[in-house]
Amino acid sequence: AAPGAGTALSDLPLRDSLVGKSPYGAPQLEVPVQLNTNENPHPPSAALVEDVARSVREAAASLHRYPDRDAVALRTDLAAYMAARTGVPVTVDNLWAANGSNEILQQLLQAFGGPGRTALGFVPSYSMHPIISAGTQTEFLDLHRRDDFSLDVDAAVAAIESMTPDVVFVTSPNNPTGHSLSLDDLRRLASATTGILVVDEAYGEFSAAPSAVDLIDEFPSRVVVSRTMSKAFAFAGGRLGYLVAAPAVVDALLLVRLPYHLSVLTQAAARAALRHADDTLASVAELAAERDRVVARLAVLGYRVVPSSANFVLFGLFDDAPAVWSRYLDQGVLIRDVGIAGHLRVTIGTEAENDRFLEVSADLSEDIV
Ligand code: PMP
Repeated sequence: AAPGAGTALSDLPLRDSLVGKSPYGAPQLEVPVQLNTNENPHPPSAALVEDVARSVREAAASLHRYPDRDAVALRTDLAAYMAARTGVPVTVDNLWAANGSNEILQQLLQAFGGPGRTALGFVPSYSMHPIISAGTQTEFLDLHRRDDFSLDVDAAVAAIESMTPDVVFVTSPNNPTGHSLSLDDLRRLASATTGILVVDEAYGEFSAAPSAVDLIDEFPSRVVVSRTMSKAFAFAGGRLGYLVAAPAVVDALLLVRLPYHLSVLTQAAARAALRHADDTLASVAELAAERDRVVARLAVLGYRVVPSSANFVLFGLFDDAPAVWSRYLDQGVLIRDVGIAGHLRVTIGTEAENDRFLEVSADLSEDIV
């Protein structure tokens, strides 16, 4: 046995607020069809792989030195991408980057949440929002979405006004339900917020809804937009998330970030991947078309499908969703049980992967309630 294996978690002097909590746990299984963590199913192009390899080789020559602590070159590239995408003239001063948007969210809570402070989320939503809240000792409050998982913006505004949270999380498109919010709805949430409104746009590229980056100039001390290269950019393994906000928000994050958090290798690889953005993002339209095909076919098979503007779809209804999840897995198709009664979530894959998912879905349609 491993040294110390006789000691259990319950034997440790764990902080009270972490007792009984579960870690983030999307299963990582080697199966033929992996449609469970909302990645882009297309591997990077040969040209991108070559560019990353060359850039990392060059960067490796300076591995004896710490990286640029402020990742200025990478942030400049990200600013150019976001300015081109949104038409909002954001600069390097509006951008911050970290190891995945999870680290961005954690830094936001370290700066704006913490002991004695609260964060409000509209559930069901991304499971890491409450987990990162617990990790930073921020009390997580929630408001439930409507039965169809859309957000009742009147109720959300009322909840913000009565609970006055220090941080409000809104995810658009929302994971795991797929709804996007309009700029007008986001504006109403921002107007009600007295703390920070974190708009989590991890799936922003998949949606036609405008980015909340449009609202930064109107609400400079409130609106922060979190984004990632993990999804549309097909760079989940590279771990690069970023934030767009007023420069003062970046100043706040400098207070909590660990020095040199983005390695020389990460910065070089992310910049190389960004140089191929046009090519990589060409897959977005194809994935959206595949999503619409999957949705239509599931509906024909009798499933209830939640409308989605992202690269995943929530569907049901089942008496026993965990049992149906296992039946998909038995057929080599890994999807996600996100803990919503009666529902499962499938990530949109390649055409062949989606075909296989739909084949199994046809076989399992007697499980539909
Ligand atoms: N936000 C949302 C809504 C997500 O779904 C995810 C990934 N599942 C993330 C943030 C974090 O992704 P990453 O850390 O890879 O950027």
